Amino acid sequence: MILPKNNRLSAEEVAQLTAIVGEFGCRIQPIVGDVRTIYAIVGDERHELMISRLEGLPFVDRVDTIQSPHKLMDIKSDLARHRVKVGGVTLGDELLVMAGHCTIDPKNPNLFYETAQAVKEAGAHALRGGVWKPRTNPYAFQGDHKSLDILMEGSRRTGLPVDTEVMDEEQLKLALAAGVQVLQIGARNALNYSLLRQVGAAIAGRPTAVLLKRGMHTGTLNEFISAAEYIVNFGNPNVILCPRGTQPGLDGYRNHPDESITPLLKERTWAPVVIDPSHSVGKAAYVPACALAAVAYGADGLCIEAHVEPARGLGDDPKQAVTPAVLAGLITRAKALHALRRSAAVS
Ligand code: PEP
Ligand code: MN
Repeated sequence: MILPKNNRLSAEEVAQLTAIVGEFGCRIQPIVGDVRTIYAIVGDERHELMISRLEGLPFVDRVDTIQSPHKLMDIKSDLARHRVKVGGVTLGDELLVMAGHCTIDPKNPNLFYETAQAVKEAGAHALRGGVWKPRTNPYAFQGDHKSLDILMEGSRRTGLPVDTEVMDEEQLKLALAAGVQVLQIGARNALNYSLLRQVGAAIAGRPTAVLLKRGMHTGTLNEFISAAEYIVNFGNPNVILCPRGTQPGLDGYRNHPDESITPLLKERTWAPVVIDPSHSVGKAAYVPACALAAVAYGADGLCIEAHVEPARGLGDDPKQAVTPAVLAGLITRAKALHALRRSAAVS
């Protein structure tokens, strides 16, 4: 829909619009009002170049598009019936809980094995464990590829699938070869379109899922859903959207908690939403409340940093990881809230 700066356009101006949209197989339909005339674009209006050229015209105020730019991720797409499964849980039916270390310590594998067993007993359905870490400080521990074996051993011992972050093609290949079931794209790479394409291509034809974090500076829903579209476009629709807080943070919280984005995502896309309260609030004491708020807002799952002995952890674990006992209490309450929400939704 083209909204002109003046109340109506001259015949020459309409001819210019018609010529531009005609190049993209569309036509112009004026909608004449008493005071103002607006101009509908009839046809497939998802051509970015067409919209930019129209917006560049000096007599055009703005162009509003009705069609979603997300051909696959849109709630009305044919994929809307697709269900993503992780660790025996069909997202949307049951609340998925993924839990484990921020960072696996390659020198202390037993800590991860103990955490893996403990989070399983607490009710988690999948393990998380950082092998390669995106660190702000270049001198901080960057992870170690040896931790991949520890991660997979934790999976074997518990029978739970694992989630780990990959930041480049080599890590992607190693993770897939090792059998990682959920690939995490971190907040820092949320808009790394080359990586998103590589991941999409690499998982095509596999059962692998992707946990796509929301970029920490990402503002719009469109950017977030478009990033998922990059992956799904290669043929594997097992993508999970993961809000994890945005910057700047609230005074006292690491990031600005953004679980309230969930209903907005759900209005636009069919993709399941799994909230990461750990990176949102950044402190173990605040994690349970944020997790419950996420479930209240409609989240399909939670991804939580947990550790048997947070003080001995690496990366975020000393400050962010909850203990298995806290996790168990949180899961019980989160599941009850999820059940309540679902029963309210059907009644
Ligand atoms: C993480 O999951 O440990 C992590 C670094 O996440 P994010 O990309 O959300 O910061
Ligand atoms: Mn972390």
